[in-house]
Amino acid sequence: MIEVGVLELQGNFELHHKILYDLGIGSKGVKSLDDLNCLDGLIIPGGESTTMSLLIDSFNLRNSILDFSKKKPVLGTCAGLILMSKKIENDVKVKPLGILDIVVDRNAYGRQIMSEKKHIEIHHNPHVSVGIKATLIRAPKITSMGKKVISMGKIDNTPVAVFDGKHIGLSFHPELDGISIFHEMLFDSSSKLFSNKFENINAA
Ligand code: GLN
Repeated sequence: MIEVGVLELQGNFELHHKILYDLGIGSKGVKSLDDLNCLDGLIIPGGESTTMSLLIDSFNLRNSILDFSKKKPVLGTCAGLILMSKKIENDVKVKPLGILDIVVDRNAYGRQIMSEKKHIEIHHNPHVSVGIKATLIRAPKITSMGKKVISMGKIDNTPVAVFDGKHIGLSFHPELDGISIFHEMLFDSSSKLFSNKFENINAA
């Protein structure tokens, strides 16, 4: 059975376990180096990226997560996306892992009270899209991305869901709305969502 880890240092990790469970995928909380052994993927949840960044280093997890990401898929949501980025604009507190070739601007969608749900179309393959509600909570903006990174969905012309052929990063919180397509795409090998892959998806 596939088993996916959910980083449980801080933040909103509970609902990711539920989404995986509902998809019939096993899940396990990751708090230490040993927890990463034998997992098929990892989720870095939303929360507070400054705290998570500090805890990743105090628990000595940085290199293990990086090594893991070279072999297995990683899904990052909101603070998780910030941690997966290569560079963060105007910020020195968070030390990003550099798993995804993107630059982000923390809190660029505004403060907590400006949290909102936006409708977006997710192009999960070149010919098919699905409409979802994206919940943004002090969300990061993706300000630039490398050539291998593909946008699967945008808000006001800015990518909020990106894929690099292996990992997915989201500015929003799919788990809060019970949206399971990203977990399915990345971790469910029997999923049909990725049937045509992403070669021609520039339309997204
Ligand atoms: N603004 C938070 C940060 O910078 C992320 C918010 C979230 O994950 N909902 O870490």
